[in-house]
Amino acid sequence: MEKITSLAKRRGFVFPGSEIYGGLAGVYDFGPNGVELLNNLKRLWWKANVYDKESHYGLDAGMFKHPRVWDASGHTTGFSDPIVECRDTQTRLRVDKELEAIGITADEKMSTTELQKLFDEHKDTIAKRNNLSGNFTPVRAFNLLVKSNLGDFASEGGDPVYLPGEACQGIYLNYKNVVDSMSPKLPFGLVQINKAFRNEISPRNFLFRTREMEQADTQLFVKPNENKDTFTQIKQDRMDWYVSIGIKPENLRFKQHDNLIFYCAEAWDIEYNFPSLGWDELEGIHDRTDYDLTQHMEFSGVDLRYLDPETSERYIPWILETSVGLGRMFLAVLADAYHEEELEDGKTRTVLKLHPDLAPYRVAVSPLLKNKPELVEKAREVFTTLKREFGNVAWDDNGNVGKRYRRQDEIGTPHCVVIDFDTLGQEDPANADTVTVRDRDTGEQQRVAIADLVRRLK
Ligand code: ATP
Repeated sequence: MEKITSLAKRRGFVFPGSEIYGGLAGVYDFGPNGVELLNNLKRLWWKANVYDKESHYGLDAGMFKHPRVWDASGHTTGFSDPIVECRDTQTRLRVDKELEAIGITADEKMSTTELQKLFDEHKDTIAKRNNLSGNFTPVRAFNLLVKSNLGDFASEGGDPVYLPGEACQGIYLNYKNVVDSMSPKLPFGLVQINKAFRNEISPRNFLFRTREMEQADTQLFVKPNENKDTFTQIKQDRMDWYVSIGIKPENLRFKQHDNLIFYCAEAWDIEYNFPSLGWDELEGIHDRTDYDLTQHMEFSGVDLRYLDPETSERYIPWILETSVGLGRMFLAVLADAYHEEELEDGKTRTVLKLHPDLAPYRVAVSPLLKNKPELVEKAREVFTTLKREFGNVAWDDNGNVGKRYRRQDEIGTPHCVVIDFDTLGQEDPANADTVTVRDRDTGEQQRVAIADLVRRLK
């Protein structure tokens, strides 16, 4: 994880938030290469979940929501993690995660009493692994919702407008608007990428657990009790998608939840084998039954039942959900692509073997020497042609060619194109108007005619 975090910073993927002020825990900023990879992930995810499906519609809801939304969803009362604090150092620990880390089965859905009992049994081990004295406060539930003062001009603080604890509420709030405006037939999906904020007790492990995150959610609305087969299909589709973007199947697995939250009929995680951390949740897939719309119907007083055009019955659709944090997805992709290879000269080559559709740049173009105008002019011509075709093309003339290759390897550029004296017809005339194309993964170089370059790169 340390190597990946350091590469991410060194190569402009991810920076610690507010770094010049000493940082802000649990917040990260995406740099020039990071934002490209992030946008590519979003684009592919959107394609798979909107364009490649039938009756799936996108949404982009406002982040702030009416305070009652979080009462209806259960977040104001139930969205909490169990916390203890060391009285001597004020270090805060998340109890369920500490227990899990020493091999004890626990999760945040257990009661405070249950967790206290387990914590007491293993207090000494937990204190030792965190270098603490063991002088802990009792276990208590800590609500993760982040408050804002939106509209609170008298600074009274009552009935706050929260930042979203999960993005999917924006979908439930707009379900009726979509039904009224688009007249979709069940089953149909609503799809959204939006921000969520959680007062995580111990944000750690780089992008794995942050306080500000982006979630990519799909909510499939189905007829009541017509959930089972579709749920199985959705699970498999999501797993296949990760493999399709280049993640190694051996680093992915399903995990079923035993301890279900009361409204869930079935819950699975897709887990990834994260570096340093091991297997942990990448994406959650939940059969939420009719809970969300029933709650919002009750709290808002608005009829959210669906009028079935075939039977003229009215009922609350059930919801099958997939939800993944973009940060965790980004981290899994980065970790999976990260390779170190021994070179013949004893040096190590670091390379990000990213899927070409994800790489920040499709291709990098450079003149062999940057102080030879004729090489630069030809290289710029090739650069302009490729940019017109692919958009995200890098111009790289820093240092020697070897250094450029190393740099492009580290950001995962699939191909490097070099314009040399052969291109200009100044050496072997048979090579005139050809360029060298180097493959990131094999290091192999081929001469390709400029006229054929776009086709070959494609
Ligand atoms: P965890 O048990 O790890 O706290 P969760 O079960 O609370 O996660 P969900 O509420 O199901 O997570 O959120 C859906 C997805 O959002 C998760 O699968 C994960 O990818 C992402 N996610 C949740 N919390 C965070 C966080 N603090 N930082 C980054 N991503 C997160």
